[in-house]
Amino acid sequence: MKKHNFNAGPSILPREVIEKTAQAILDYNGSGLSLMEISHRAKDFQPVVDEAIALFKELLHIPDGYSVLFLGGGASMEFCMVPYNFLEKKAAYLNTGTWAKKAIKEAKAFGEVVEVASSEAENFTYIPKAFTVPEDVDYFHITTNNTIYGTELHDDLNVNVPMVADMSSDIFSRPIDVSKYICIYGGAQKNLAPAGVTFVIVRNDALGKVSRHIPTMLNYQTHVDKGSMFNTPPVVPIYAALQTLRWIKKEGGVEEMQRRAKERAELLYAEIDRNKLFRGTVCKEDRSLMNICFVMNDEYKDLEAEFLKFATDHGMVGIKGHRSVGGFRASCYNAMALESVKALVACMQEFEKLH
Ligand SMILES: *Cc1c(COP(=O)(O)O)cnc(C)c1O
Repeated sequence: MKKHNFNAGPSILPREVIEKTAQAILDYNGSGLSLMEISHRAKDFQPVVDEAIALFKELLHIPDGYSVLFLGGGASMEFCMVPYNFLEKKAAYLNTGTWAKKAIKEAKAFGEVVEVASSEAENFTYIPKAFTVPEDVDYFHITTNNTIYGTELHDDLNVNVPMVADMSSDIFSRPIDVSKYICIYGGAQKNLAPAGVTFVIVRNDALGKVSRHIPTMLNYQTHVDKGSMFNTPPVVPIYAALQTLRWIKKEGGVEEMQRRAKERAELLYAEIDRNKLFRGTVCKEDRSLMNICFVMNDEYKDLEAEFLKFATDHGMVGIKGHRSVGGFRASCYNAMALESVKALVACMQEFEKLH
C-alpha cells in the first residue's frame, strides 16, 4: 500500500532527492568511494556547497551582500546565535508558538527583549496583527510558520527595523523579500533535507556590531569567512539539500511551490470545513499551508482514536497532532503530492459515511 507521508519533521522529501543521495552514498561521482567517506575539502565536494549556495541565492532572489551558510546545531542553535551576534541592547520578538517562545528565552540572556504581542492566551490559534515594534530595537524576530500550531505569516511584514526570521518549516514555499531581513534561518529537516544541517542567510554588513566577545563557532563571521568550512560541515545533508534545490528549480521555483501549497491546502481545509466530523483549530486567515491542524468536532470527540487507526490503515503516516494541540496535523511540505492530500480527503469522507 502506498504510504502518504504527512510527518511534521523530519519529513517528506522528493523521491529523486532520496535516490540521488542514496546513489552518492554508495558511489560518489564514480569515484569508488562513498560520499560519507570523503573529505569535505575534497575538490569534488566544494562544487556541491558552491552550487547549493548559488541555488539558494537564485531561488530566493537573495540580493548582493548576503551570505548563505550551512551549519550544525539545528534551528535551536540559532535561537542563541541570533542574539549573540545581533542583540546589543534590545530586540523585539513576536510570540506565536513554542518555537518563538524558545527563541525568546534564549534572547533574554543577551539583552532586553520586548515581546510585542503574543497569542499564547488563545493557545496560539492566530497570529497577532495589532502591535507596534519599537524603533530602537536591534532587530524584530518572527517565526514565519508555526509548525506545531499550524499558523503562518503569508507575507513579509512591513516594519521599520531589520527582521530576523525562523523559516524552518516554510522556506522555499513562497517568494520572500530577503532585503527586509538581516538573518533568515532554519533546520533543514522540514522542507529541504534530512536532519543535520541548518541554513542561515545573513546580511554581511549586519555583523560585527555587537560589543561582546562571541565564541568562534557561534560567530556568524567565522562561517562567512570560511564558506561554512571552518569545521566539518554535515556533508550528506548538504548534498541532499542540493538535490532538493535542483528539484525546486526544475519544478518551477518557489512560485510553483507556493501554487502547489495553496492547491493542497485549499483542498484539505475545504474538506475540514465541510465534513461534519472535523473542524480546523486556527483562525482562517492565518491557516498554515504547510501544517494543517484539525480536530474532531465536539459531538464526535470519541472517534479520534478510531479515525487515526482508520487513516493509518489507509496508508496515512504522521497525522497525529502535536500534544499541545491534539487531534490531527497533516504536514504538507513542498514534496507532498496533491494525490496524497486527495487520499487523505477520501479517507475523511469514507470515515464520515461510517458515522
Ligand atoms: C522544527 C522547528 C524548530 C527546531 O528545529 P531544530 O532543527 O530541531 O532545532 C525551530 N523552529 C521551527 C519553526 C521548527 O519547525
